[in-house]
Parts: sequence; structure tokens; C-alpha cells
Amino acid sequence: MKGMVFIGGKWQAPSSGKTIDVIDPGTGQVIGRIADGQAADIDLAVKAARQALAGPWARLTATERGRLLTRLAERIMANYDELVDLESRDCGKVLSTARSDIKLLARYFEFYGGAVDKIHGEIIPYQNNHAVSLVRQPFGVTGHIIPWNYPTQILGRSVGAALAMGNATVVKPAEDASLSILRVAELAAEAGFPEGTFNVVPGYGATAGQALISHPGVNFVSFTGSPQVGTIVQQETARHHVKCVLELGGKSPQVVFADANLERAIPAIVNGIIQNAGQTCSAGSRLLVQKEIYDEVLARVADRFAKLRTGVQSDDLDCGPLINARQRERVQRFIDDAVQSGARIAAQGKLDGVPSGGFYVAPTLFADVPREHLLAKEEVFGPVLAAMPFEDEADAIALANDTDYGLVAGVWTEHGGRQQRVARAIDSGQVYINCYGAGGGVELPFGGFGKSGHGREKGLLALEEMSITKTIVHNYE
Ligand code: NAP
Ligand code: MG
Repeated sequence: MKGMVFIGGKWQAPSSGKTIDVIDPGTGQVIGRIADGQAADIDLAVKAARQALAGPWARLTATERGRLLTRLAERIMANYDELVDLESRDCGKVLSTARSDIKLLARYFEFYGGAVDKIHGEIIPYQNNHAVSLVRQPFGVTGHIIPWNYPTQILGRSVGAALAMGNATVVKPAEDASLSILRVAELAAEAGFPEGTFNVVPGYGATAGQALISHPGVNFVSFTGSPQVGTIVQQETARHHVKCVLELGGKSPQVVFADANLERAIPAIVNGIIQNAGQTCSAGSRLLVQKEIYDEVLARVADRFAKLRTGVQSDDLDCGPLINARQRERVQRFIDDAVQSGARIAAQGKLDGVPSGGFYVAPTLFADVPREHLLAKEEVFGPVLAAMPFEDEADAIALANDTDYGLVAGVWTEHGGRQQRVARAIDSGQVYINCYGAGGGVELPFGGFGKSGHGREKGLLALEEMSITKTIVHNYE
């Protein structure tokens, strides 16, 4: 398995013969190697997927595909400890996060396995003596570009839905997070997925990723990652008139009104930003608080921030390391620039005793962030929370919508009418009222407005996204 690609149900050496070192973000040590996949490997994987579509895979009923997905979910749970360990060491996840990720990975396959034979077509009333039916078909070969922050959850939601609908998949994981995805491909083969339905080519974005999104044999692309690469994916897929779903970043607001239940709100707000060390697209990274309770909320959040503990994954503390040295520098630069431009640090967690080779950043709460500041507008992708006061409901909505992103929002108020008004007025793919749902929510359609992307994954809507409709008009006169 080491340093190989998984194509056509088998391990193969990558065409270049080259590998990439796998680094444990908690210690900076090399713990393995993966293949440095190139365009030639992607080409082989797309061909294997195309062949699968011409083979037994295409003849399986929806129920049979569902059973394979359910069996894969079972294989994942049978290998749970191994996958948790791989995910924790490869991606720097504290153990509780790695455990939750692997359970959700299995849960996605279970959900789509159970759902797929309940997806019906439609009959459309038309002229006399005509039967019109709307049927759903797979796109064909689907490409899946996966980021490093929640690799297994994102694999489950995107590949799970694509396989459910009968597509054959080619996955390009991030080079910082390939180990569990490769293992899941092997488990899929063990579960009985036909050769070529689940191919994985690890490698860099600029080579393997670029080859996948621009391959003329790919019929659909699911991309999760940064807005910058999302633009490239949309440009490349447009050349072949291929549909893409883009799940990009976020700068999600937690909107706290003066009547909010703070006992509930405060822990959820802190968890919503420090979970996975802030490397969560749906992180609640802006804390917007009505001015009457701003000082109180800030003091209570600051109290928790000051007590946050960061450490190596196996210690399972509040925060683990960031994914790599580049991300740590990027996040640290955000913090340093904000301080230089006059932003006030209200509290910071400690970094006592973390291994010197690991990629750690102290969780940081910024207060009174000016509305035009970069910290108020741009995604940090680290454990950094930016607090700002607002006046009234209209001001809260305007401020919540004052970024180019729109992925998730939290609304904290006991006032029924306001809960609904604000939820409907915020431009984002999900809104949580008196709760916050970063992560999980297998059943809940998820996706962005604006710079957060377009299309929806998760829930039953993903099955529509990953398939194409055909209208069949039958004159039976
Ligand atoms: P990224 O740089 O966009 O990378 C995402 C994936 O795209 C990786 O597999 C990467 O490969 C690949 N890639 C890079 N350049 C490519 C190219 N030219 N063609 C094809 N693929 C290419 O993002 P990241 O830094 O890994 O992840 C962080 C970002 O993703 C954040 O902005 C975050 O908000 C967003 N995100 C969004 C969601 C969501 O559901 N909305 C979920 C998670 C993350 P390599 O890593 O191998 O270079
Ligand atoms: Mg790694």
C-alpha cells in the first residue's frame, strides 16, 4: 500500500515511481509515504472508471448498490481503531475529532446505502396518449477533489452519493491527508465494489488534481477546498461543459442577541471555532453580539479561551496542531498583522509543553475588530475568533451578510419572530437557531452562497446533484 495508487481495484506503483513523505503534524516527523500521482495515473484511473461503467456495475439495481454501500459502512466500523489512528496521526486530529470523523464516514455510506432505492422518478402530465417520465441516471465518471481538513467526512458525503447513483469515481485526496482515504478504497474493494468504481490517486493539486479536473473523460467534478482553486475547477470543467459542485470556505457569523440563552450559546460558540483547531469551513469565526451584552459575552468567551489547552493528538485536548508548517505560518501571520494594525487580543490559550517540531498555534480571541478589517472579512482557517458589537436586528443582519462568503450562520435569541426573520435574511446555506452545527448533519443539505461555492452535498439533495435527469416522452396512441 505504501507509496501506491489504487486503480481498478488494485494497488499499483505510480507512473513517476516517486513518493511524497507523510508528516505527523503533531511532531513534524515523517510517518510514511504516499504516491506522487501524475496525469498518467489519473488517465489510468479515469479509464478504469469508464470500464467499470461498461461492466457489472451498470447492471446492479439501486438496492444492490445500496447493499454495497452498507457493507462498506460495516467494513469501516470493523476497522475503526486503525482508521482513527491513521486519521489522527496523518491530519493532526485530536482523538475525539478523529473518532467522530470515522463514525461519520461510515454514517454517510450507511445513509446513502439506505436512501438510494427510495429515490423515485416522476410522471409528468402532458398531451393525451403520451406518457412522460423523468428518470435519473448517473453522470458517468465523477472526479472528487478532497481537502485535508475533514478528508474522511468529505469523502463519505461526496463519493457516497456518487456511488449510490451509479457513477464510477476517481478521488484525488490532499497530499496532507491521503492515508485513510487509500485504506477506505481498499475496504470498498473488500466490500465487493466492482473494479474501477472507487479509484484513488494521491498527489499534488497542481499535477494530479489539475489532471483530474481537466480530463475530458470526467463527466462531473465535486470539489471541496479554497475559493481560489474553486475558480480554477470551474474554469477547467467549463472547457468540457461538465458540471461541478463547489464547496468552498466560509466566514460564518454567530449572531447573539441581548435575550439569548448564554448558558447554551457560549460553549457552542467556543466549540464552533476551536473544533479541529479552527480548520473547519463551517467554523463560526465571527462573533457578533448585541451591544447591551457585548462586554459580558466577551468576558465569558475570553474566560474559556484562556483555559483552552493545546497539545499532541493522543492527549485529546481542546486543540491539536494545524495541518502543516505553511498553514501555521499563514494563521500566525493573520494574528500578527491584526495586532500590528491595532486589533485587541481579549484572550489567548496557552501552548505549554507542545512538541517543538509540531505545527501549533494558540487559540486567539480578538475583540472590537473593525468591520472593514481583514479579520472581519477573510477566512483564517485557524483557532481565531473575531468579536464585534451590533446595534439592533437590522444592523445584525447587515453585519452577518457583510462578507463575500455564506456557508453557515448561528442565531442566538429567544424571540420567535426574530429567529425566523433573521434566519431567512442571512445569506448562507445553513442557519442554526439556538444551536450550531459545525460538522455532522449527514442528513442536512450543505453548501454555500457566493464565495462559499454552489451546489449542495449531504442529505438527499446530494443524490440529485450527483445524477442527471432525462425526460422520456412516449406516444402510445
Ligand atoms: P485547496 O488548496 O483549495 O486544496 C483543496 C484540494 O484541491 C486539495 O486536494 C488540493 O491538492 C487540490 N488542488 C489544489 N490545486 C489544484 C488544482 N489546480 N487543480 C485541482 N486540484 C487542486 O484548499 P486546502 O488549503 O486544502 O483547504 C482549505 C480550504 O478549503 C479552506 O478555504 C476551507 O474553507 C475550504 N474547505 C471547504 C469546505 C466546504 O465544505 N465548504 C470543506 C473543507 C475545506 P493538494 O492539497 O494536494 O495540493
Ligand atoms: Mg499528514
